[in-house]
Amino acid sequence: TEACLAAIEGAGKLNAFVHHTPEIALDRAKAADARIKAGDAPAMCGIPVGIKDLFCTEGVASQAASRILQGFRPEYESTVSAQLRDAGAVMLGKLNMDEFAMGSSNETSVYGNAINPWKIDARDLTPGGSSGGSAAAVAADLCLAATGTDTGGSIRQPAAFTGTVGIKPTYGRCSRWGIVAFASSLDQAGPMTKTVRDSAIMLQAMCGHDPKDSTSAELPVPDFEAMLTGDIRGTKIGIPREYRLDAMPAEIAALWDKGAEMLRDAGAEIVDISLPHTKYALPAYYVIAPAEASSNLARYDGVRYGHRATLGPGDGITQMYEKTRAEGFGMEVQRRVMIGTYVLSAGFYDAYYNRARKVRTLIKRDFEAVFAQGIDAILTPATPSAAFGLGEMADADPVEMYLNDVFTVTVNLAGLPGIALPAGLDAKGLPLGLQLIGRPWEEGALLNTAHVLE
Ligand code: GLN
Repeated sequence: TEACLAAIEGAGKLNAFVHHTPEIALDRAKAADARIKAGDAPAMCGIPVGIKDLFCTEGVASQAASRILQGFRPEYESTVSAQLRDAGAVMLGKLNMDEFAMGSSNETSVYGNAINPWKIDARDLTPGGSSGGSAAAVAADLCLAATGTDTGGSIRQPAAFTGTVGIKPTYGRCSRWGIVAFASSLDQAGPMTKTVRDSAIMLQAMCGHDPKDSTSAELPVPDFEAMLTGDIRGTKIGIPREYRLDAMPAEIAALWDKGAEMLRDAGAEIVDISLPHTKYALPAYYVIAPAEASSNLARYDGVRYGHRATLGPGDGITQMYEKTRAEGFGMEVQRRVMIGTYVLSAGFYDAYYNRARKVRTLIKRDFEAVFAQGIDAILTPATPSAAFGLGEMADADPVEMYLNDVFTVTVNLAGLPGIALPAGLDAKGLPLGLQLIGRPWEEGALLNTAHVLE
């Protein structure tokens, strides 16, 4: 813990940790020492971790990287961070992210963006987003592991951009209670770590049924680490042809082929599969996620949480709402709220929102059909490119940024588990990631397949 705190101190430039909690960390580390001495030490005991700013942490600023939550110190702890704390994990502080987890570059954060420890020619690159601070902190050895959340790829894309491992479990595996809601039918928490084994250990501590989240699954949590046997003989791995984009860089295609080769060498059968509705996933996601976000973000009204605008003479409650929300929400969040309210409005509900929900069902059925054929896991690239430069997308159409999620959003729409892990380096020396998508509730088998690719 002391070594991590010193590393954080020396790595201010990365802007990964945005709220520092050294006193809490040292207290918990001492308590962990005592537990270890007493012989009562679960696997996470004494492990220094960072917590994404989206998780409510008792008495510690939890701002979702937004101005509107300035000064908000929750009186409660999210279920997932409480489970980690109870398992002895040591919280070092809160990690940078895109505002309300909306983004793929960490550039929408009120704290300014986190920076990727990987560089080309000393140029600053994005660590990806929205869990960019988590990925940067793990990659730069500021903590041993971190929590992330993933609504459309926010664990897997930053993991791929920083050469780390991140798993989004099946929807319902981890409680969403106490995590600031973005799009509730898609949001899931998950670990971001250096290795697949670490992800297995940390996921174990994070998941489980929680009566405070009605979508949390009442299923036993298996011993994920014990399932890392490395034996995948006889399993079937699907390669979806729709993910082979025309514009895909040759080196990503090559690493994808190499991954398939490694799994074949380990005794898996590689099967070409089709997920025909893939091309509709991004448009459906960028209707459903903003729709849910516009509803979830209605609670930030200047009354219940954080920031309230200074009012002028004659300003009433409507002006208070308007000014507070105009000042408190950044550009991207405002854009999503506007898209969301538009697609949910009476005249457009059927044309956009209901249509997107139908597309979502078709995407889910695509996956069910391949699993029914006996496919155990699906191998794809994690992202369409390696990490890009800070500001590189600033003047581009926002849709350019949304295209980053092309390989990841299908997994959230279908509620499946997905893991991103390092696949190798591109010609410039930057990490690229592969993604494995698993059957619902089979995170153990998924982690084991990923372990073979390490
Ligand atoms: N990049 C996606 C978005 O901006 C995904 C974000 C996430 O998974 N939280 O919505």
